[in-house]
Amino acid sequence: EVKVSVPVQEESMTFSVHCHAGAYNIKEGEDLNAAMNCCTIALNAVKHSGKANEQAWYDPSMREKAMHDKQISQLFPEAILAEEFLVYYQPKVNLDNKKLCGCEALVRWYHNGAIVPPMDFIPVLEREGTVCTLDFYVFEHVCRDLRRWLDNGITPVRASVNFSQQHLQNDRLAERIVSIMKQHHIDSKYIEVELTEMSGSKNHDALLEFLRKMRDYGICTSIDDFGTGYSSLNMLREFQADIIKLDKSFIDRISLNVSDYRVDEIVIENIIRMAQELNLEIISEGVETEHQAEFLKRVHCNMAQGFLFDKPLPRDEFEKRLKGSRIYQIPDKK
Ligand code: C2E
Ligand code: CA
Ligand code: CA
Repeated sequence: EVKVSVPVQEESMTFSVHCHAGAYNIKEGEDLNAAMNCCTIALNAVKHSGKANEQAWYDPSMREKAMHDKQISQLFPEAILAEEFLVYYQPKVNLDNKKLCGCEALVRWYHNGAIVPPMDFIPVLEREGTVCTLDFYVFEHVCRDLRRWLDNGITPVRASVNFSQQHLQNDRLAERIVSIMKQHHIDSKYIEVELTEMSGSKNHDALLEFLRKMRDYGICTSIDDFGTGYSSLNMLREFQADIIKLDKSFIDRISLNVSDYRVDEIVIENIIRMAQELNLEIISEGVETEHQAEFLKRVHCNMAQGFLFDKPLPRDEFEKRLKGSRIYQIPDKK
């Protein structure tokens, strides 16, 4: 089975045509419908891979994956109603004074006594658009938690919330965010919106407009997973975000054992310098070792997030961090 999508041609516009193919090696005497079904499963698997112009032969793991995805989408509406989704908070640390300086809200699905990690269900919800419901659920819970801390005399830190690119199709996104904050009386200084860097230009104008509105409302925005897409450098110039989050893959290569890591150091150093010249804040995610933290400090990236400091924590555990000294004790080797 082959699916080719050819968009309507319009003058002065160029469209690219993508082709996906799913194939199945039919055996003698096999039912034709069942064979076609295998082709469709293979076709969907390549389509969901997100790559253009791909083809694949059917294999049984594709059917398992398709069933898993279907189950996720069937369970989702009930799970939202039953509040099975929990918000965890991962601390962000200022490397200059080792102080807790923010946090990121990360969702967990508590289902049948086990925690389902986000990568098992977010891609499915992204495809279906239902991720928007989840993101607002998370955002609402974050606002509630912030309110609770404020009411109990605990000064919170700024919390960042992940918003999928899917939201950009809704031109009332900014207004909806602001209305939830108002409902809970949350000052804009406590909120940051994280959006992933885009690889295509589909949502380009919508993103630009959204970032502009957020700026008008005084709400911080950050570009997540920075450096993994291919429009990074252009983006910095054009988009009015406040913070860039350097993707974990960069910092992963800053290790004592990688012989050619000097190249990666140079790349990171220059991204940081450029960000600073553009008046952007920069945070590095996935910091796992002291060596990485020292390197970041040396190149003037003064914010970090990672297992070296803390994993994402359940709300009550994170609350203990807010109530404690807020200082991370990591030896300062020079
Ligand atoms: P992300 O936004 O890039 O979040 C950072 C991920 O890196 C988190 O994974 C976090 O637990 C993990 N991480 C942080 N520090 C370290 C470290 O030092 N080492 C390693 N190995 N990992 C580290 P998590 O919580 O599994 O989330 C995965 C992804 O799921 C997130 O990546 C984000 O894209 C998505 N996600 C999570 N919550 C939400 C949400 O509420 N809405 C949306 N749209 N996406 C979400
Ligand atoms: Ca994020
Ligand atoms: Ca990230």
